[in-house]
Amino acid sequence: AYQDLAFVTLATTDSYCMGATVVARSLRRHGTTRHIVAMITPNVSEQSRLALNDVFDEVIVVDVMDSEDYHHLCLLGRPELGITFTKIHCWTLTQYSKCVFLDADTLVLCNVDELFDRDELSAAPDPGWPDCFNSGVFVFRPSLHTHTSLLHHASRHGSVHDNTRLHGLRINWEILCVGFVSVLLVLQPQLDMLELQVCSCRFGHGAKIIHFLGADKPWSSQGNSSYSHNMEQFVSLWWKEYLIHTVSSAPAVQ
Ligand code: UDP
Ligand code: MN
Repeated sequence: AYQDLAFVTLATTDSYCMGATVVARSLRRHGTTRHIVAMITPNVSEQSRLALNDVFDEVIVVDVMDSEDYHHLCLLGRPELGITFTKIHCWTLTQYSKCVFLDADTLVLCNVDELFDRDELSAAPDPGWPDCFNSGVFVFRPSLHTHTSLLHHASRHGSVHDNTRLHGLRINWEILCVGFVSVLLVLQPQLDMLELQVCSCRFGHGAKIIHFLGADKPWSSQGNSSYSHNMEQFVSLWWKEYLIHTVSSAPAVQ
């Protein structure tokens, strides 16, 4: 019944594949009835691909931007937009009528299938810039037309994260209820107060999805003791989910 609805994530490196695995596992743990799809790029290793095949319903290889696009972005002074462009590929998944995109650095804490009751483009506000949405979690409708418009827009403006920019695309940003997505930044202990300020939901109470925004990801931080307690509980939950998966999919010991 839900064949045309899917959760979608993206991984362009083997490390981000670790994150993608946890996204799928945490969705399944909480009993999702929707498809779970991973978009990967051709450079992802065979080993990571096989691991993703175990937990995802579909693993789709998408093009990295070609060199001409890259050259164009360099001319614009925005080479980092490569990943953004790859993310926008999710609008090409027209075999689905509605999707929920989840960054590979998110962790699902309970069943979030209710997100499919929302329409394009539903997303939580960014904790740093509340007039923009945070693109870690968003509801969208695949469409080649929207895909092309977004690519155009992104190459010209760099960002499509607010309603002024989206207006021209006839897309409207609708705000997901406060606290649905809790954005956590991994910061050093001396910046602990800053961390509390940027959490869109201070203690994570009521949060349904955790987004580990920022340069340090859970997979790059095993044994890192510089987390606050607030942060630590979610990082260890992430590792628990990752390791359970890794153990259960390992070949049986002879
Ligand atoms: N991503 C990826 N490879 C990269 C960087 C990013 O696959 O090298 C994907 C991945 O799904 C990631 C998303 O793009 O979650 C957004 O990047 P990231 O989460 O690192 O940005 P942040 O949320 O910290 O701003
Ligand atoms: Mn992210």
